Amino acid sequence: MKYIMVTGGVMSGLGKGLTTASLGKLLQARGLKVTAIKIDPYLNVDAGTMNPFEHGEIFVTEDGGEIDLDMGHYERFLDVNLTKEHNITTGQVYYEVISKERRGEYLGRTVQIIPHVVDEIKRRLRQVALKSGADVCLVEIGGTVGDMESMPFLEAARQMRLEEGPTNTLFIHVTLVPSSGPMGEQKTKPTQHSVKELRQLGISPDIIVCRSATPLTSEARRKISLFCNVWENEVISAVDVKNIYELPLVLEHENLSSIVLQKLGLRSGDIDLTSWVEMVSKMENASKPVRVGIVGKYIRFTDTYLSIYEALRHAAAQNDVKLEVRWISAERLERTVEAFQELSQCQGVVIPGGFGPRGAEGKILAIRWARENLVPLLGLCFGFQLAVVEFSRNVLGLEGANSTEVDPLTPHPVIDLLPEQRGLREMGGTMRLGAQEVVIEKGTKAFQIYRSERIWERHRHRYEVNPEYLPLLTGKNLLFSGKSPDGKRMEILELSDHPFFMATQFHPEFKSRPLRPAPIFNAFIKAALCRSLNA
Ligand code: GLN
Repeated sequence: MKYIMVTGGVMSGLGKGLTTASLGKLLQARGLKVTAIKIDPYLNVDAGTMNPFEHGEIFVTEDGGEIDLDMGHYERFLDVNLTKEHNITTGQVYYEVISKERRGEYLGRTVQIIPHVVDEIKRRLRQVALKSGADVCLVEIGGTVGDMESMPFLEAARQMRLEEGPTNTLFIHVTLVPSSGPMGEQKTKPTQHSVKELRQLGISPDIIVCRSATPLTSEARRKISLFCNVWENEVISAVDVKNIYELPLVLEHENLSSIVLQKLGLRSGDIDLTSWVEMVSKMENASKPVRVGIVGKYIRFTDTYLSIYEALRHAAAQNDVKLEVRWISAERLERTVEAFQELSQCQGVVIPGGFGPRGAEGKILAIRWARENLVPLLGLCFGFQLAVVEFSRNVLGLEGANSTEVDPLTPHPVIDLLPEQRGLREMGGTMRLGAQEVVIEKGTKAFQIYRSERIWERHRHRYEVNPEYLPLLTGKNLLFSGKSPDGKRMEILELSDHPFFMATQFHPEFKSRPLRPAPIFNAFIKAALCRSLNA
């Protein structure tokens, strides 16, 4: 097993995750089997209980992990399904060490960060890497070098170099090279300082990836090489890209994959990035736009809807059109006409997942507008549930119908808690999570889209369609075309007298890949393109 450890310096948000995913893509394109691990040095056991407004979207894996959004990039770039074990947090490590201590597994010993916590980190890294059967395991160490929180992880990485040997481990440090002064001179001092910090921890980077607004000048490259003790060709210029899928190409232009292979003593054939290059050029060169409105509550921080945005982009590229997203605040829809004007300029509307009452009425207004004006609509999870609420109120005349999550006292609880959720005390990892089987009825729009009677899609919810309302709900033009195999859980809904009004209890966005868009997103984009674009 070859381990590539990716650390970050200078500041957070430099795109370590994208750099890791991009390098993985390049190694894969050279025929290697690649896996990736993300380390998050926070104390939460997983990202499931975190506020998406601070950390961005919670990504869901097949096995029901609620994890960091960088893992979504790994899955999309590498086109692999990862498991929750691929996201290691301080919380998990301490939980395990303390449980072992309570079980008496360290009997007689003083349990300490070194060796016990660090050993547990190494054990997890090796276990995940070996289980994957990959040739190369990329490990992204979250946080910035110098943070107190990431120290045990960096120490584990240092020890692994010693234990696995220098040709089986590689350190890549991602830093920022800012420009300043009237001539926009590139400054290398922050990089030098962060490498110094890393060295104090016993780690010397083998390769330094420099983020900068303009390509790294030869002067900056020379300085970084000299003062950070790497060859000039090991200083990689990662100039800002407009499109994240361009990053592997930018890094390959700097010969990153061949340098990595050579350092790890690996051989490979020529790199084949043909389909990737084609996909990027489709994204960049498409001239015809498709304008989609995303109606959400967290629109000031669009990372909350990252996988939805990516899935729309994949589908747009597949259809040779350029995605234009209008982020529309659900709460503004409740208050202003302008928000509706924005909505009316869109060719299709997405109602994403969400929690709680804030903005729910605005989303319901958007759903009503799309239903009545025959505008393509895609509802996801909470969006699916609110489509049921809207239909109950405005088509079936069930006044005050709602989800009990939004209004616990509603006279018509058309969406209600899943039975197994009642009486649950713990919040972490207790939703209906991960891949679940969905059975699709033949002859429906859903069947036309998926072309299969049985699919697996990822879930993350506590509420569902209340089975008591099913006879009423399905008496008109609404059809639940996808259900759980026992027929009890409603999974997909569609309206028979609307060009495209589809909603899913699951999250198809998590399985969309750049070269294999999620089928329902693809169909949504096609439907949106049938509607003319009013500027
Ligand atoms: N809040 C809703 C539920 O728990 C929807 C969740 C979601 O959109 N992910 O069922």
